[in-house]
Amino acid sequence: MKQADVCVIGAGPGGYVAAIKAAQLGKKVIIVERDKWGGVCLNVGCIPSKALITAAHFYDQLQHADEMGFNVGKTTIDFKKMQVWKSGVVNKLTSGVVQLLKANGCETISGEAQFVSPTDLEVKSSNGGGVERIKATNFIIATGSRPVQIPGFEYDGKTVFNSTDALEQSSLPKRLAVIGGGYIGLEIGSFYQKFGVEVTVIEATKGLLTGVTDPDCAQVIFRKLKKAGVNFLFNAKAVGYKKAGSDLNVIVSVEGKEQKIPCDKILVTVGRKPNSDQLNLQKAGVKIDPKGFIEVNKQLKTNVPHIYAIGDVAGQPMLAHKGMREGIIAAEVIAGKNLVMDVKTIPAVIFTDPEIASAGMMVEEAQSKGFDVGVGQFPYVANGRALTMNSGEGFVKMVVDKKTNVVLGVHIVGAEASQLISEAALAIEMGATAEDIASTIHPHPTLPEMMMEAAEAAFGPPIHIFTRVNRDHATRLPTKSP
Ligand SMILES: Cc1cc2nc3c(=O)[nH]c(=O)nc-3n(C[C@H](O)[C@H](O)[C@H](O)COP(=O)(O)OP(=O)(O)OC[C@H]3O[C@@H](n4cnc5c(N)ncnc54)[C@H](O)[C@@H]3O)c2cc1C
Repeated sequence: MKQADVCVIGAGPGGYVAAIKAAQLGKKVIIVERDKWGGVCLNVGCIPSKALITAAHFYDQLQHADEMGFNVGKTTIDFKKMQVWKSGVVNKLTSGVVQLLKANGCETISGEAQFVSPTDLEVKSSNGGGVERIKATNFIIATGSRPVQIPGFEYDGKTVFNSTDALEQSSLPKRLAVIGGGYIGLEIGSFYQKFGVEVTVIEATKGLLTGVTDPDCAQVIFRKLKKAGVNFLFNAKAVGYKKAGSDLNVIVSVEGKEQKIPCDKILVTVGRKPNSDQLNLQKAGVKIDPKGFIEVNKQLKTNVPHIYAIGDVAGQPMLAHKGMREGIIAAEVIAGKNLVMDVKTIPAVIFTDPEIASAGMMVEEAQSKGFDVGVGQFPYVANGRALTMNSGEGFVKMVVDKKTNVVLGVHIVGAEASQLISEAALAIEMGATAEDIASTIHPHPTLPEMMMEAAEAAFGPPIHIFTRVNRDHATRLPTKSP
């Protein structure tokens, strides 16, 4: 029987961060992982997807290199070699996680954990080492999530892919049908499209990223993908697929009418469900909600006060940085600090081309909460750095409270939006006003200057674009770039 102050179950971004923090705070920590250290994010999620997206972007830029005066000739893709490079990136990071855990004094155990009581776990070794027991004063459940499967589309890794399969192929299909136009489907679909694959997105709702991101940002992506040749079917329900010889068709019902979508592979990205059903939670007395998420309070405590849950298994949004922050809070609470998870915003990025990044409220959301909403917007085409990067597409939109000019939300579509959004998140967390951002000197020429100018546009005319003031305050519509 092993004993610990804190036993963490699952070594994804939530779990490994929680374990390191708890060890830094002087606790004896054991962390158990049944599969790969680093979890979904490092092995089959954030990192490999972004590696392949970067490779596809690089390939795309090579196709347009002549605009800058390069004659690069015909570029060919060695997808197997690219996968080797991607795996190298993943391995560097995952081995780094194991090193960090060990350096901080955490004991690492490879095996599948299940509760046998509220204070005891049983771990079935992944390396044939049998079963061992762990008794701990506190547990942090960080078991993450897995892809949802829909009827008629059983994952087989050959014809029907989940996101993991799609990131691990060694060759490219000619045609890919993507069921589900959420962020994961769009990110993966986009990089396949850039590598020359014919992509069709089958989406059950009436539009792209409806309710998920700013509609104007979504529109930019929709238009760009459509122009690049991606086919979209909205209000479309994929009901099954038919395979006859080399012919593969997804059967789709669009407003009651059946259509066949010819393809070579099918990627299903319709959401993820929490890994709360393989832990014997009833033995620990831990409650889950109807969707399977473990219920937690603001200190990440479950209904059993010495058992905490963090990350994807503890609810939306299923994002790595949300799990990491929760991991830190849970470890600090266990160490005796009186903290709660109290954030105004969890920023989110969609790594399409161009990227979408957002923090805080969208216009409609702010209006529905009773704010008198003002909007300041600034286009990439009027930013010097964006043009030197050959990336004049997109905008920064700042949502403010007209009464106080406090920043309520920022929504960006454009190159490196992911790198710009943290300034917005900081502003929102600190209750900054648009004037605070506008009067902060931003170095020139850089993309963040657009944040400054969108802030200016929220309360007065910005310098680098001519605007038509259509209200006495705030909302200004850009009419002309310089
Ligand atoms: C294709 C894709 C792209 C993504 N891109 C992004 C992105 O760009 N940015 C972002 O923020 N998020 C992204 N995500 C989401 C992100 O990966 C998750 O939000 C994040 O991994 C959740 O972290 P976690 O620690 O809660 O769980 P996970 O990363 O899921 O880790 C949980 C770990 O627990 C282990 N485990 C489960 N049950 C047991 C058990 N009984 N015993 C022992 N171990 C167990 C699992 O093996 C796993 O390793 C992406 C996801 C996917 C699929």
